[in-house]
Amino acid sequence: MFVVMKADANARQVEGVIQVVNEMGLCAHALPGAKRTVIGITGNHSPLDPSRFDRLPGVEEAIQVTKPYKLISLEMRSEKTVVPVGDASIGGDELAVIAGPCAVETREQTFAVAEAVWRGGARFFRGGAYKPRSSPYAFQGLGEDGLKILAEVRERYGLKIVTEALDEHGLDLVERYADVIQIGARNMQNFSLLRRAGRSHLPVILKRGLSATLEEWLLAAEYIMLEGNYNVVLCERGIRTFSDHTRNTLDVAAVPAVRRLSHLPVIIDPSHAAGHNYLVLPLAKAGVAVGADGLIVEVHNSPRQALCDGAQALTLEQFGRMMSEVRAMHGVLEPLAAA
Ligand code: PEP
Ligand code: MN
Repeated sequence: MFVVMKADANARQVEGVIQVVNEMGLCAHALPGAKRTVIGITGNHSPLDPSRFDRLPGVEEAIQVTKPYKLISLEMRSEKTVVPVGDASIGGDELAVIAGPCAVETREQTFAVAEAVWRGGARFFRGGAYKPRSSPYAFQGLGEDGLKILAEVRERYGLKIVTEALDEHGLDLVERYADVIQIGARNMQNFSLLRRAGRSHLPVILKRGLSATLEEWLLAAEYIMLEGNYNVVLCERGIRTFSDHTRNTLDVAAVPAVRRLSHLPVIIDPSHAAGHNYLVLPLAKAGVAVGADGLIVEVHNSPRQALCDGAQALTLEQFGRMMSEVRAMHGVLEPLAAA
């Protein structure tokens, strides 16, 4: 059930509805919007009677939910969510660029890439300290030592740190050092990890699972929001298909398809979709063209020596070029989209 408050409803009236919801043993999620506040009610296992709410002071109407998700939906919030990350954000007018190596390998490597990311004008730095590798013999990441290097990058360049948590223990540590938690494709349906991320004070980037439908992906975001963390960013990173000329197939249609259903920001990861360096720039531009709120891309100072995903890493020069091209595109498209 959604309880839509009147445009002029005051905080006491919102509180009054929340109290009624709590007295029923249910959970209230109040999301203030530009025009009005909507309160999502969760915890019920059968439909609620709208008459319990629609006569309460300040209430415009109570609406039954017909879709499988509630909190991510446009009924809950009609305008797009802007996820704040310190003095930066994801989902606003600016294209959010998150760039950095697949993995933090050494302090020197990380700083060399960070310098180029900062010079290119990106506001976010990525780098994995915990890597979900297909082979247990492959480089698994530096763990907490990697997180410490990332924290130094933030200190030096003011870049916001985005890094993956593979499990709940790792999330405790990521929370200590980073600005944004990344939940990887392989963990998209790790429900206990999603719930833990939902109890975090940090925003979460939720990657789409390798073979997840749109609905499964949105329901995974719902798990996070249900725990009270509404700062969720969805990331399309390519899905498994029969095609073998790319590592995965970038589902560009996912961006407008999510937009039609959800207020959450959506970003594109052209690197894991492409798998090959030469495809990253065209896919990044495709992402901007379909209206993505941002890009997450892999960059390395020496791709051939990379311990992880070297084939898809942009060189520092290529990253600079990508930045100017995607910015130019976004500068043309954003005002048109807003009009
Ligand atoms: C990554 O960003 O390095 C990563 C492992 O991504 P994904 O979960 O999309 O494979
Ligand atoms: Mn990678």
